[in-house]
Amino acid sequence: MTEIVRPAADALDIRHVSRRFDSGGVAIQALQDINIKIKPATIVSLVGPSGCGKSTLLRMVAGFDRPDNGDIALGGRAVASPGPERGIVFQQPQLFPWQNVIDNVTFGPRMRGVHREIYAPAADRYLASVGLSEFNGHYPYQLSGGMRQRLQIARVLINEPRILLMDEPFGALDYQTRLDMQRLLLDLCASYRPTVMFITHDIDEAVFISDQIHVMSKRPGRIIGSFDVPIARPRRYEDVAATETFMRLKLATLDLLKGAH
Ligand code: ADP
Ligand code: MG
Repeated sequence: MTEIVRPAADALDIRHVSRRFDSGGVAIQALQDINIKIKPATIVSLVGPSGCGKSTLLRMVAGFDRPDNGDIALGGRAVASPGPERGIVFQQPQLFPWQNVIDNVTFGPRMRGVHREIYAPAADRYLASVGLSEFNGHYPYQLSGGMRQRLQIARVLINEPRILLMDEPFGALDYQTRLDMQRLLLDLCASYRPTVMFITHDIDEAVFISDQIHVMSKRPGRIIGSFDVPIARPRRYEDVAATETFMRLKLATLDLLKGAH
């Protein structure tokens, strides 16, 4: 067993956040009075119709954008700019096509001036944890979609983020690969214990992976319902997917979303 590093996870506190865009002279209210608290080391999903402001909210937590009103704090500190303690995973992995797997994974620590003696064993460890140990010399174009997303996750985890911000990370994958990735994410979270803010369209995915689910209305995005997911971990999809609790939460989320469109 390789030694597991467990950086302390951060709480996320989103308070009264609103965001409006100016689109060719027309004001678009994207988000309105969003309040979300995520406890450290928990997995919280946001589901909502396309265009309701999910990515906008994630970008503000990432520090790429600022709210017009309200504030966002991570571990009690106001978010002002991007930082390596926030690991971001988009639907399309942000890999360097000209770099092989090992160079892609070590990019973050190399940029931060970490010594090779430290980042090289860390790269081995994180690549092993996502099942890519055999592919060090491969380039992104030689990997499947699922493998590219696993590489992206390793590339983010090596920075030992205190929160993972995931924007429909498995949305482009086929059903089977998606289930594999959900299992992998839960395994990684059990080992590394980051806080996770996870955006998805897939209600099944939200219920399976989350401790809590927030449902958003159509634009302007507001939180119209929140559910705790009282399903014990570790979870196996095969064991939980047909349970009464799982079904009840799926239907309750679906019911809210029906009104949200
Ligand atoms: P979602 O991720 O839920 O599909 P987004 O957060 O991408 O939604 O977008 C929310 C709304 O804000 C959309 O109507 C989108 O067109 C608008 N929007 C997002 N970013 C900008 C921007 N930079 N300029 C203008 N409008 C934007
Ligand atoms: Mg989006």
